[in-house]
Amino acid sequence: IGSKLPDIGTTIFTVMSKLALDYNAINLSQGFPGFDTYPYLKDLVEEFINQGYNQYAPMSGVPELKSRIASKVLNLHDVEFDPEDEVTVVSGATEALYAAVTATVRRGDEVIILEPAYDSYAPAVRLNGGIPVFVPLNIPDFSVDWQKVKDAITEKTRLIMVNTPHNPCGYVWTQEDLDQLAEITRDKEIYFVSDEVYEHIVFDGRKHLPLLSHPELREKTFSCGSFGKTFHITGWKIGYCLAPKPLSVEFRKIHQFLTFSTSTPMQYALAEFLEDPSRYLFLDQFYQEKRDLFCNGLKQTAFRFTPTRGSFFQIVSYAHLSEERDYDLAVRMTKEIGVASIPVSVFYHDNKDHKLLRFCFAKGNDILEEALGKLQKLT
Ligand code: PMP
Ligand code: GLN
Repeated sequence: IGSKLPDIGTTIFTVMSKLALDYNAINLSQGFPGFDTYPYLKDLVEEFINQGYNQYAPMSGVPELKSRIASKVLNLHDVEFDPEDEVTVVSGATEALYAAVTATVRRGDEVIILEPAYDSYAPAVRLNGGIPVFVPLNIPDFSVDWQKVKDAITEKTRLIMVNTPHNPCGYVWTQEDLDQLAEITRDKEIYFVSDEVYEHIVFDGRKHLPLLSHPELREKTFSCGSFGKTFHITGWKIGYCLAPKPLSVEFRKIHQFLTFSTSTPMQYALAEFLEDPSRYLFLDQFYQEKRDLFCNGLKQTAFRFTPTRGSFFQIVSYAHLSEERDYDLAVRMTKEIGVASIPVSVFYHDNKDHKLLRFCFAKGNDILEEALGKLQKLT
């Protein structure tokens, strides 16, 4: 058959994880925790399965979980969402992103994507007949160049993809960023898909500022989250989308034909688990310790870096060391040094090579120490 995505192969995450496995390397490539989730959360799932919660969940999510998600946003950001009409539970943030893009983008619409960008955004836009318009983030801090974003807006701009905290770069949006976005899109029919899956992983006393905390932006935002990162359950594939009712109505029309609904016992378990906010509020500190351990060790390597501001990824530069393409270096390091990483060029539509690698530090401290020891061998 003719391909609808002729230039797209298997995602880098699958490629590098397989390479790590084949060469018995430490896998700091694909982003997933190297430790298990909480025994109590697992017990809850078992309990709900045994109680017979094993048939289809309501299409938009079980009411208990939708309420808890709405309460979390109210408590943290003082913004109200109606759990019945404005919160939808989906099978991972990947589905939320795809459904939100599909609900919004028509043939010929332009969608602004800030690069480097998570790999699912542009394909989702293209499969819906949209045209991705790529705007580079500033090097080296990956902040947003607002003049460039403003210049990229045309009559056809329909959507802007936002990701804070940012994967792969860790940039965390500031109030100034939110205000700028509101300013340049005021009175325009431009929507926002905001990918905030690392909402609870921000460092050095920073605060995650969701788009929905800005009264103007809130009205036009699909806010996408995931329990995968927050509770160490990337394999459960449960996420959510908060959006004002008119947007949620359209979002749900797509969700109901993509997956219809999401795992019932896991939704009940998560609703119960979310009761205690300390279960996600300690995550900043938990990951900050890992980031600090990893960055302290990186100082003994030849890489250059600035400690990441959020997410569980650290970017390093080797531009001063070699001319080798980042993809080639990532593959070679996996085979020869025994540590797998992600080449950052894969997050650019034209594979722009800034000689950067991304490491995931969501691993046990012993694994991180071992990886750091190996990375010191690179000169
Ligand atoms: N967005 C970003 C920025 C991610 O890093 C990921 C994966 N970790 C996702 C979306 C997908 O999340 P999920 O696994 O819930 O589909
Ligand atoms: N989000 C994860 C990462 O950035 C990977 C998710 C996936 O494998 N699709 O590494």
